[in-house]
Amino acid sequence: MGTRAYDTVIVGGGSAGAVLAARLTENPDRTVLLLEAGPAYPPDAYPDSVLSSSVVGSATGHDWGYFTEPVGAGHRVQAHRGKVLGGSSAVNGAVIVRALPVDFQRWAIPGWSWDELRPVFDRTLVPIRELERDELTPMERMFIDSALAVGIPPCDDFNGPKPEGAGSWPLNVLDGQRINTGVAYLTAEVRARPNLDIQGDALVDQVLLDEVRATGVLLSDGSEIAAGEVILSAGAYGSPAILLRSGIGPAADLTALDIPVITDLPVGCALQDHPFFLNSYAVSPDRIGALEPVLGGLAWLASSEAEPGELDLQISATHLFDPGWSPSNSGFLLAVGLMRPHSIGTLTLASRDPLAAPRIQPNYLATESDRRRLLEGAKLARRIATTDPLAGLIESELMPGSSVVDDAGLLTAMLSTVDTYHHPTSTAPIGAVVDPLGAVHGIEGLRVVDASIFPDVPQVPTNLTTIAAAEHVAARL
Ligand SMILES: Cc1cc2nc3c(=O)[nH]c(=O)nc-3n(C[C@H](O)[C@H](O)[C@H](O)COP(=O)(O)OP(=O)(O)OC[C@H]3O[C@@H](n4cnc5c(N)ncnc54)[C@H](O)[C@@H]3O)c2cc1C
Repeated sequence: MGTRAYDTVIVGGGSAGAVLAARLTENPDRTVLLLEAGPAYPPDAYPDSVLSSSVVGSATGHDWGYFTEPVGAGHRVQAHRGKVLGGSSAVNGAVIVRALPVDFQRWAIPGWSWDELRPVFDRTLVPIRELERDELTPMERMFIDSALAVGIPPCDDFNGPKPEGAGSWPLNVLDGQRINTGVAYLTAEVRARPNLDIQGDALVDQVLLDEVRATGVLLSDGSEIAAGEVILSAGAYGSPAILLRSGIGPAADLTALDIPVITDLPVGCALQDHPFFLNSYAVSPDRIGALEPVLGGLAWLASSEAEPGELDLQISATHLFDPGWSPSNSGFLLAVGLMRPHSIGTLTLASRDPLAAPRIQPNYLATESDRRRLLEGAKLARRIATTDPLAGLIESELMPGSSVVDDAGLLTAMLSTVDTYHHPTSTAPIGAVVDPLGAVHGIEGLRVVDASIFPDVPQVPTNLTTIAAAEHVAARL
């Protein structure tokens, strides 16, 4: 066992882990070690690729490099995750929206009602700024105007009481810089606390257990660190992988990999994620104008099958577009997200090796209802794009392309290109695997606190809800 014992070891310094490290060390009597597999840059020394809100996913140079198992018609999609202090909040699209009241109602977790969470959202430390109309690009302005023209109501605050409609995204971006949790929460002042140590480039293999009590962690270099309590905040792919390597998971899967079973729990059995259909358009490079902010316009609405209070479709107008996709070398995407999918996927281990990628099978569009509702969203995106003023900007439709004129053709295109909004959750859900404070059933001194613990995926991009969940749990530990 390592020489120094900490009261709490937090594994993963992402959206949740950075919040926990900052909040738990407000108590000077609690010693905390935060372990992060990626680099732990000082708050004022992040590279530009991580700070720039126009650079997203693997282009930041800080991605785990995962792919899903075959989805849709049999293709694999990149499953980005940030590998850096700040985690996925350091590589994401920087749109920042809180979950809907109906999400908390459906979860029905004691202590997690909308009334209990609303003040928690208000005390999160990431900046939230609604873009002014003149800050949007011409394409994003035209998208919003065309959405209004097809009858979608205007929305001036997607974090307000009536988030339905078309308008500009709220962003956690200041002066072009994405404010990740390693910056917003782990300030120089917080990092100087004598009771907080942060270690970067530290890959955790498994939790050390004395029978059913967590006693510390084992790193992939073989070193051990003792802890009074271990909190896994390694994200919806990382945390279940560590649990599984530690012998906490479905007994049959563990046995097949020769991992001794400590406790039989459905870890990784309820993975959820928002599927994306990328409806893309070619534009003349002389006419498209400014390309930043890369995300600006949103239409958020209920499909014809949504339950009361749900907003299960998002259409996001974005310049996150590879010029190579267009004959004119210029274009944009209307990214259609199904925000309340019913399909359930799995995360399993491919091997016991901590360096091996997990097997991620999101099962996008596995249900008829998911296919019908994403189809409805895709048809609406095309309607917006064929309505002025946006229609006037477009040279041609690239995906699915103008030859696709009926639902059957659109469905085929959707299945053969389905992509991810990068919002995986629910691999160690409250209820089946952990309690409302993240404590793992049947194990003492071990919690999971990150997007893994949501009972299902909320109807929003997941960063702010993950931050709020970490705030909520930290305040009660
Ligand atoms: C490309 C992309 C775009 C997105 N866009 C948006 C958006 O615009 N708005 C939004 O709200 N949400 C967005 N999201 C989702 C959002 O960022 C995530 O839901 C959120 O950051 C998840 O937080 P987390 O704490 O659960 O995990 P993470 O933030 O991923 O943190 C996990 C941390 O644990 C570390 N880790 C993992 N395994 C180990 C290990 N074995 N040992 C040590 N450390 C480990 C990782 O390196 C990482 O730093 C996006 C995500 C991606 C990837």
